[in-house]
Amino acid sequence: MLSVADAERLILDAVHPLTDSEGVRLPDATGRILATAVRSQLDFPHWDNSAMDGYAVRFEDVAAASGQSPVCLDVIEDIAAGTPPQKSLKSGQTARIFTGAMVPSGADTIVMQENTRRDGDRIEIVQPPKALGEFVRHRGRFYQAGTPLLNPGIRLQAAEIAVLAAAQCNVVKVIRKPRVAILSTGSELVAPDQPLKPGQIVDSNQYALAAFLHQFGIEALRLGIVADTPPSLRQTIQEALQWADVVISTGGVSVGDYDYIEGILEELGGDIQVRSVAIKPGKPLTMASFAKLRSLYFGLPGNPVSALVTAWRFVQPALLKLSGLSHGWHPQFVEATTELALPAAPSRETYIWGQVAIRDRHFHFNCAGGSFSSGNLVNLAQTNACAVIPVGSPGIAAGERLSVLLLQS
Ligand code: AMP
Ligand code: MG
Repeated sequence: MLSVADAERLILDAVHPLTDSEGVRLPDATGRILATAVRSQLDFPHWDNSAMDGYAVRFEDVAAASGQSPVCLDVIEDIAAGTPPQKSLKSGQTARIFTGAMVPSGADTIVMQENTRRDGDRIEIVQPPKALGEFVRHRGRFYQAGTPLLNPGIRLQAAEIAVLAAAQCNVVKVIRKPRVAILSTGSELVAPDQPLKPGQIVDSNQYALAAFLHQFGIEALRLGIVADTPPSLRQTIQEALQWADVVISTGGVSVGDYDYIEGILEELGGDIQVRSVAIKPGKPLTMASFAKLRSLYFGLPGNPVSALVTAWRFVQPALLKLSGLSHGWHPQFVEATTELALPAAPSRETYIWGQVAIRDRHFHFNCAGGSFSSGNLVNLAQTNACAVIPVGSPGIAAGERLSVLLLQS
C-alpha cells in the first residue's frame, strides 16, 4: 500500500501535459489554456496620452506658476479621446485635453484641470506641475511591441481576455481540451431515471464525475453503466483507452469476487502504478498508464464518497497538469482551525469532508454533520474542503490548526 505522497508523485509523474493546440475565436477562449506566447505589434499605450482631464503644456512654460503669479496660456484646440491633435504646441500655448486623448506634439506635461482657471480662449495655471511629464502616459511605458505579452500555460480569464482583446488577437492558440471518458462498473447499478428494483443502487458516481470534470471545462464522454462481467468491461475499457487521454471508472477495484478492473488493465498492457493507497476514504485506488496509447486510467473506488475524495485529491491535479497549465496545478492546502474535534488516524491519511470559511481573516474548518461513512454521500453535499489528519495522529482537538485541502469551487 502506497502513502498518499508516494501515490501522488507516481500519478503526477505519469502525466505528460498536452501540447496539441487549436485556434479559437477570442470569445470562445475563456477558460482555455494559452498554447503559445502572445506578442503584440502595438506598444501599450499606443501613443503618449493624458492620464487626466486638463491642459497639455510645455513644462518650461509653467514650471514657475503659482497662485500669486499665474502663467497665462492661449488655448489653441480641444483634444477629445479618439481624435488626434490637429496642431503642434508652441511656447505660450496650451490645448484642452481629456483623459486618454493623444498628447499633441510640442507638449510634454499635463496640468490637471483643478490647477487652472479658464477665461475664454486663455487659461491661468495657478499651480505648477510637480515634474516634467506629469500625467502623461508615455507610449510603450506598459509594454513594448514584439516582447511577450502573455506566456503559454496560463488559463485565460477576464483579465487575460482583456489583454488579448486590446492586442487585437482575434484568434487565440489554445491547448486542446483533455479527452476524458467515464464509466460506472457494477451489476447492481441503475441510472437515476430507471425504476429501482430491490437490491439495486442508483449510479450517482457517473453524474458526480461528469460534474467534477465540467468544473474544469471538460465535457466527459459518458460510457454509462457496465456490468461486472469481464468481456463487457474489457471491450468498453479498451475502446475508451483508444480515444481518451484519461479514462475514469468507479467500482470494481477492491478485492471482491466481482472486482475485475486491475486484471483487465493488466491484460490490456497497462502499467499499473498504483493499486492501493493509505488514504481514508479511498484505499482501493488504481492508476495505470498506457504508454503506447498515451493514456491514463484511474480506477476509483465505487463508494460515492471514496470516488469523489480520490477524484479531488489525485485526479484533479493530474487533469490540471495534463491540461497544459504551467503552474498552479498542485493541490492547494491551507492551514485552518478546526471548530470540532477530529478523530485519530492510526494507519491511513484521513480526509474529513466539510466546509472551510474565512472568519476574522483566518480559515476555519467545520466538518460535515451526520455520519462519516464512505457510503454516506448525503453529508458530502456543500463540501468545499477536506481536513487532512496525518497517519499516526491521535486526533485533533477543537481549536487546533491543521492542513485542509481546498476544493475547486
Ligand atoms: P465496489 O467498489 O464496486 O465494491 O463498490 C463499493 C460500493 O459502492 C458498493 O456498495 C456499490 O454499490 C457502490 N457503488 C459502486 N458504484 C457506484 C456508483 N456508480 N454509484 C453509486 N454507488 C456505487
Ligand atoms: Mg462493484
